[in-house]
Amino acid sequence: MSTQAEMPEEGEPILYAEDGPVALVTLNRPRYRNAQNARLLQALDAALRRAVANDAISAIVLGGAGDHFSAGHDIGTPGRDIHKSFPRIATTWWEHEGRAGAEGTFVREDELYLGLCRRWRALPKPTIAKVQGACIAGGLMLAWVCDLIVASEDAFFADPVLRMGIPGVEYFAHPFMMPPRIAREMLLLGERMPARRAYEVGMVNRVVPRAELDEATLAMARKLAEMPRFGLALAKRALNQAEDRMGLQDTIEATYGLHHLAHSHNALTQSDYLAGQDPKSMAASLKK
Ligand code: ZN
Repeated sequence: MSTQAEMPEEGEPILYAEDGPVALVTLNRPRYRNAQNARLLQALDAALRRAVANDAISAIVLGGAGDHFSAGHDIGTPGRDIHKSFPRIATTWWEHEGRAGAEGTFVREDELYLGLCRRWRALPKPTIAKVQGACIAGGLMLAWVCDLIVASEDAFFADPVLRMGIPGVEYFAHPFMMPPRIAREMLLLGERMPARRAYEVGMVNRVVPRAELDEATLAMARKLAEMPRFGLALAKRALNQAEDRMGLQDTIEATYGLHHLAHSHNALTQSDYLAGQDPKSMAASLKK
């Protein structure tokens, strides 16, 4: 098994700062386009819990350092830590490390991807995703669980995992985040959706010039912070419940099985559970 010492990292994977009543939480692996490893996701969870626990904080902005919000789950950086143990905090599963067959991947992704995303969507304080550059696959999950999304003009969104033979990223919210016809287009073609189109189809709330992204997001967060806090938390819960009654959580739960059928099919028929794809081949598919 790999150890932390064998996987040199580039500093803190998450930055946490406060600006008045607003917590600024930043994915901080810009060298790897903020690819999400377990270390980063656990640190993100800790930062979000810190923001919720601090009574002086009323709104949370989630952004990414560098030119990109997030290129998705880590499928090939030196800090990739899929075989490394981490504390169970989001689900009731046991340890994934060292489990053979489908078990390890199923348990790991249920804990680390679905479990944490469900927690973050249910945070009682309002969240805004601040998106520039790439927001791909696992990146979508982080943006989608936020209440509002502000994108810069250079941002683009994509879920290209069908290239791996997988029917969409683990948090299968696509037909709830945009009209179902557009979700089909995003998934079946695996193309980039530019920020402007994401705005037109209702997936993001604002598109602003790159130079204005920080200020526009902060202004929106300050506005949220002025709202009655408990009422806002109740409104957020009402919206989450409405989405769930429209079938969001059931859809995610049901599709998670198909997602892992695909992982297992890949493992049985190809070189690995990702069908041999890596960051380079996936990035090349998005250029087409
Ligand atoms: Zn997966």
